[in-house]
Amino acid sequence: MELSWETRGIVLTSPLSEEIDDVIKFIDEYLAPRGFNMIVMQVRYRYQFSSHPEVWGYDPLSAENVKKLLEVCRKNNIKLVPKMNLIGHQSGFHNEPTDGILHGHNTVSSDICDGLLRAYPDFDEQRGLKEILYSRSICLSSREAKAVVCELIDELMDVFEADMIHIGCDEVFNAGLCPECSKKSRSELISSWINSINEHVKRSGGTTLIWGDRLLSTKDTGYNRWEASDDGSDIAIDMLSKDIIICDWHYDKYEKYESIDIFAKAGFRIMISPWRDKANLEAFLDYAIKHDIGHINGVLMTTWCGSGDLAKRLLYGEKGRWLHTEQIATTIEDVFGK
Ligand SMILES: [Zn+2]
Repeated sequence: MELSWETRGIVLTSPLSEEIDDVIKFIDEYLAPRGFNMIVMQVRYRYQFSSHPEVWGYDPLSAENVKKLLEVCRKNNIKLVPKMNLIGHQSGFHNEPTDGILHGHNTVSSDICDGLLRAYPDFDEQRGLKEILYSRSICLSSREAKAVVCELIDELMDVFEADMIHIGCDEVFNAGLCPECSKKSRSELISSWINSINEHVKRSGGTTLIWGDRLLSTKDTGYNRWEASDDGSDIAIDMLSKDIIICDWHYDKYEKYESIDIFAKAGFRIMISPWRDKANLEAFLDYAIKHDIGHINGVLMTTWCGSGDLAKRLLYGEKGRWLHTEQIATTIEDVFGK
C-alpha cells in the first residue's frame, strides 16, 4: 500500500527504564529507515514531573532519558510529541507482568487510579463510587484540576522541547456525573475543557492533538461506542477550535469510514489512526486515500503494547509479553516493511 502523506507517525508508550536502550535502538534502526517521522509518546503520568512529583506513575521517565530519546529522534528528523490522557483513562488495570500501561475494562468494577486521581481524589468525576465502567474521568468543572493539568503540560512540552502535545480525550464514559458537571451538556463540558487546554497550549506556540471518537455519533456513523459517542458529546465537533488536529482512530472493519468526511466537512485536519488488524487497517487507509480532500496530515499508527516489548519483538524476534504484541508487530512489518 502506497502511503504518500507527509506524516508517518506511531504511538509508543513511555519506555520502562530497563528498556530505554532497546527503544532508542528501535527508533534508530527500525522506525527511521521505514520512514517514520513522528513518535507520539504515551507518557500519561509516567514522567518524573518536578512540579508535581505526587502524580508520578509507574517507573516514570527521567528527564535524562527524555533527552536521549530526543537525541535519537533529532538525528533521524523524527518529531517527538508527548501524550497525556486529559479526560478519561484515569484508571484501569495493569498488564501482568506490569509494563506501566493501564487498560480500561468493559465491566463495572473497581480498578487502579492513575497518578492524577491517586494524588487528587477530589478531581475524580466518580468520587465516592467504588466501581465504575471502563475507566475514571477528570472532573471537567474543577478549576484546581485544570490548573494542575496545565502545569503538567507545560513541564512535559518543555522537557520534550515539543511544539505539539496529544491530550487524549478518548473513550470517555463517565463525564457529567457530579452536581457541577451535570448542569452542562456533555458537548459543552467536553468542548469547553478541550478549548481551554488548547488555548493554554497555543500560548506557548504549541498545537493540540486529540482522539476524535467523542466528536462522532454512533447513530450517524455506525461506529461502535468506543469509536464514537452515544451520549450526545458529538455535538462538540462544532464547538471546538479548528486548529486542533483530530486523530481519527478506528480498529474495526466498516464499509465506510465516514468520520473522514465528517471531519473534512467540519474543517479539521486529521491523522488516520489504525491498529493491529491488517485487513481493518487496509480498509481504513484505502477509504482515507480515496476521501482525502487535503485535510489528512498522515498516518498515526497505534500500538498500545509496551514500547520495549514491541522493540524487542521487531529488533530481535523476541516473543511479546502482551497478548496483542505479535499481531501489532506483524501488521507493522507487513505494512511498513520487514
Ligand atoms: Zn464534575
